[in-house]
Amino acid sequence: MLENYPVIIIGAGIAGSTLALKLSELRPDLTILVLSKSALSECSSFMAQGGIASEYKTSESDIETHIEDTLKAGRYMNDEDTVRWWAHQTEHGIDQLLKWGVVFNSEMALEGGHTTRRIFKVEDQTGKSIMNVLWDKMLEQKNITIIQNASVVDIQKDSVQNIFHVDFVTDQLTQNRIRAKHVVFASGGLGRLIAPSTSSPIATAEVMGMAIQLGVQTNFLSCVQFHPTGLFLRNVKQTLLISEAVRGEGAKLVNSLGDYFMVRYDKRKDLAPRDIVSRAIFEEMKLTDSDCVYLDARNISKEEWLYKFPYIYAQLVRYNLYPEKNLIPVYPVAHYMCGGIVTDTNGSTSIDGLYAVGEVSCTGIHGYNRLASNSLSEAVVFGLSLAQFLSEKDISFDNEYSSRVLSEKKSNERDNEITTEMNLISETLYAVFKDQKTKEEVEELISFYEHTFKLNQEKSTLHYSLIVVIRLLKDYHMRFTNNNIQIQHV
Ligand SMILES: Cc1cc2nc3c(=O)[nH]c(=O)nc-3n(C[C@H](O)[C@H](O)[C@H](O)COP(=O)(O)OP(=O)(O)OC[C@H]3O[C@@H](n4cnc5c(N)ncnc54)[C@H](O)[C@@H]3O)c2cc1C
Repeated sequence: MLENYPVIIIGAGIAGSTLALKLSELRPDLTILVLSKSALSECSSFMAQGGIASEYKTSESDIETHIEDTLKAGRYMNDEDTVRWWAHQTEHGIDQLLKWGVVFNSEMALEGGHTTRRIFKVEDQTGKSIMNVLWDKMLEQKNITIIQNASVVDIQKDSVQNIFHVDFVTDQLTQNRIRAKHVVFASGGLGRLIAPSTSSPIATAEVMGMAIQLGVQTNFLSCVQFHPTGLFLRNVKQTLLISEAVRGEGAKLVNSLGDYFMVRYDKRKDLAPRDIVSRAIFEEMKLTDSDCVYLDARNISKEEWLYKFPYIYAQLVRYNLYPEKNLIPVYPVAHYMCGGIVTDTNGSTSIDGLYAVGEVSCTGIHGYNRLASNSLSEAVVFGLSLAQFLSEKDISFDNEYSSRVLSEKKSNERDNEITTEMNLISETLYAVFKDQKTKEEVEELISFYEHTFKLNQEKSTLHYSLIVVIRLLKDYHMRFTNNNIQIQHV
């Protein structure tokens, strides 16, 4: 393995993979290193069910409705210029995926907050279908090196030479140090810091903590989107998502007393944006003293389930739930980080040489709340844009830098990925959102975690995740405890 790379991409989900593939096409002279903390399939991109939103080969007025739906879902806290630019680029993103070999279903899907059917999908496993194509393509590229089970544990900037040192631990627990002029954070969200959630165990956000430690600017960190319909199972950290597209096909939410309650909360009823539906469910759970509500999807026949949602159907049957006959117990679960590291449309951050793309970034597209299926198209559009930007820069990496031998240091870091402390943190953060904790309660939590942080100065995954937890709570304190966003009843 080389010691110096012009570009290191941390993350091999849809954002990192789109970037790597496009950059390798534009600059075959460069060697690009992509690190994946676990096996490639352990990422949110692989798990995406519903699809990828785009007004494709339609009229300017249709693109306008996509822009309006996105702004409305984001409570107009989005960056409108960026939303406009991106909405016009999504067609280009879909074209690129088609060119690389992704095959979508001919029928488009409808999801909450969208006024038209504009979701490209592949049954209910869109992410898996896209990622298998992208990873196969990446493995063919001679100038992309992918290392799986390579967990980044520290990043330092050498301000004199203007390069970054990236330390990562592999399967063999060997700690490696490599250097790069340009480091891209494509490391996904923070779902596993809040549980229950839909996220895989990789989503512990330590890489974002490293970026924060380097001084990078973040925004909207506490704007965590809860998905209204996670399958309710007792004592699980990661749960099955029942795609919004199921409600797009007419399924309805009902409380434990048999009341179809969404009609009381929003005129879009079950297809209102996710924050509104989630808050309504939490309220109904409180009013009926229940741990969950139910999704009544009995209007969808078994044949339709098997045709449109074969993966979800198979998973439900494993729990002895036959959705054409049984109500599905559901509750809101943490799902998506709307904020993150602030970037411009090229993926540049506030630190020279550091970039962010995908869920870890805050581009201004989502505002307070993401419109369903906008995140995959955000990752593709910004991944392509960053590839173009980097390809035009002088990013060759001469061996002018003083050489440092790869360290053979042993590390126990990988064992610590999901610690008991992390599990406790994730339950506490879930309660902050569910119960809408008060200003004083959040202040107490911030002091507690700052104290824990001081005691835990060893640079572990937990150390860096705690940086994110504290910043998230401070953002929550600033945004939600003074100016609580309440849902409107219609
Ligand atoms: C169940 C589920 C369903 C979803 N459905 C949809 C949908 O239908 N449509 C939609 O638009 N969005 C959907 N989303 C959201 C969407 O999938 C994500 O926002 C998107 O895939 C994020 O892509 P990403 O490339 O930024 O991150 P990810 O796909 O999460 O990839 C992160 C990468 O970073 C790597 N990484 C993290 N930490 C480290 C480290 N320390 N060292 C090395 N590597 C590291 C990981 O190994 C991984 O390769 C869904 C999410 C979930 C969880």
